[in-house]
Amino acid sequence: MHKSFIPVSPDSHFPIQNLPFGVFKHINTKGKAHIGTAIGEFILDLTYLSDNNFFSVLIPDKEIFRSGNLNSFMSLDKEIRKNFREKLKVLLDENNPVIRDDKKLREKCLYLQKDCEMILPVKIGDYTDFYSSREHATNVGIMFRGKENALMPNWLHLPVGYHGRASSVIISGTKVKRPKGQTKADTEEYPKFGESKLLDFELEMGYFISSGNKLGTNIKVDDALEKVFGLTIVNDWSARDIQKWEYQPLGPFLAKNFATSVSPWIVTLDALEPFKKSNVEQSPEPLPYLKPKNNFTYDIILEVYIKTKKLDIPYLICKSNFKYLYWSIQQQIAHHTITGCNLQTGDLLASGTISGIEPDSFGSMLELTWRGEKPLKLPSGEERKFLQDGDTVIMTAYCQGDGYRIGFGSVESEILPAV
Ligand code: MN
Repeated sequence: MHKSFIPVSPDSHFPIQNLPFGVFKHINTKGKAHIGTAIGEFILDLTYLSDNNFFSVLIPDKEIFRSGNLNSFMSLDKEIRKNFREKLKVLLDENNPVIRDDKKLREKCLYLQKDCEMILPVKIGDYTDFYSSREHATNVGIMFRGKENALMPNWLHLPVGYHGRASSVIISGTKVKRPKGQTKADTEEYPKFGESKLLDFELEMGYFISSGNKLGTNIKVDDALEKVFGLTIVNDWSARDIQKWEYQPLGPFLAKNFATSVSPWIVTLDALEPFKKSNVEQSPEPLPYLKPKNNFTYDIILEVYIKTKKLDIPYLICKSNFKYLYWSIQQQIAHHTITGCNLQTGDLLASGTISGIEPDSFGSMLELTWRGEKPLKLPSGEERKFLQDGDTVIMTAYCQGDGYRIGFGSVESEILPAV
């Protein structure tokens, strides 16, 4: 198995097979955001290496690494990005002395992750959120409309989604203030204004668009993955009581626009290639524009933990998998653009809450506690129906290979009280 000169434990998310991209600051970068890749417990500073001509053949434009975000890099031709990752593999190879044996160089281009601050890696133009887990849509449908009408008539024919809010997408570690808004109890005649009492997380994966399509054209379902730079973990925070009152007939609005958290590392499709698998069989058959020759997904293990002020160790409350989704990334992109809508470099598209069949695989508190009817019992003796102030939600994701993992790190955020 390919190894780096940097020691990487088998359960590390960042072996030499992964090499995800992110943006960070370190005391040595003097306040500037640099582009890096994660390797074991370290970050390799790609901006520094670019400035020192390590990539001048492959990517001569040094500004690409100095811009403080990944957008210019993402928009490079797919082959260039692929070759660039191969170049990084060579530089980090256990038998390559160039960085390994140069102590001065190592001090300038390798930093411990714990000494770095991660920055939102992409300037996000637009954010779209889908609703592509059949189990999630069914669970929510049963709770809101009853068993008979659980799935809406359109659900099996198209990937349902809505246009979200890009300005409030935040990096892991940023605290989330409990939102206020209008809510109305079924027993009341009029709505009230106040803090949301049913604050929830949604376990999702998101993907960033590398290069999009011109307005008036569409991306064909078989070309869609060419447009994807890589994946990240997404926590799509939701205020269920605000959502319940506002959502008809146009869908979620304020219930979702106050925060959406993403993990700092973007894992490329090249790194995920060994974990591809066939998508679930779809019946009824989708319309031709939604039917790829090969409809596939990825086997990515997903976990959600909760940490309260009284819990010392985060407690596992959900174990799901990206492969449980019904609609694939290809189908989401083909559907999004079929009208001629233009996707652009840096757009974020998210999967929707990823729930499985088993009750411990449900990807939101709404489902895990069945709208609060079955509170979660925590080892601290506490109970949770929805999230409380001071709670921290931690989501992690990884693909399990033979003796190594391709991981995404985590997205973690604490809930602050409303003010
Ligand atoms: Mn969502």
